[in-house]
Amino acid sequence: MSIERTLSILKPDATARNITGKINAIFEENGLRIIAQRRVFLTRAEAERFYIIHKDRPFYTDLCTFMSSGPVVVQALESENAIAKNRTIMGATNPREAAAGTIRALFGLSIDQNTVHGSDSAETAAQEIAFFFRETEIVG
Ligand code: ADP
Ligand code: MG
Repeated sequence: MSIERTLSILKPDATARNITGKINAIFEENGLRIIAQRRVFLTRAEAERFYIIHKDRPFYTDLCTFMSSGPVVVQALESENAIAKNRTIMGATNPREAAAGTIRALFGLSIDQNTVHGSDSAETAAQEIAFFFRETEIVG
């Protein structure tokens, strides 16, 4: 294990319900440090570029529509094993399948409106953090 950084997004359903602080508290209680954070309203083009890896999936259009439907909070999180740790804390993609106590089990509304995004590998974490943050905006 080593100190890692991962990209987290609090999705539009989280900002709409004013629960970003509750979610940040869960990260911090689990030892994830928020080392960069910004609230942004993604354009559709930005959402499409961020999720380009999913461009051939049937849900791509709806995903990009949703992610550009309201403000999001983009964050870099840091801890030992941060990438896998955040995926565990987030829970399964479908909130109905997410383990009890996970963010998606607690707050997710549907497979589309599932409250949080988290990087899934070291490679995507580096790419996704660089998508939103300059090195000088990350204060570990
Ligand atoms: P995760 O966010 O858990 O890494 P994916 O990377 O597979 O999941 O998918 C990205 C996002 O696309 C998901 O968080 C979810 O909002 C949406 N999504 C994934 N699969 C589906 C699906 N079958 N139907 C609708 N939306 C989906
Ligand atoms: Mg993913």
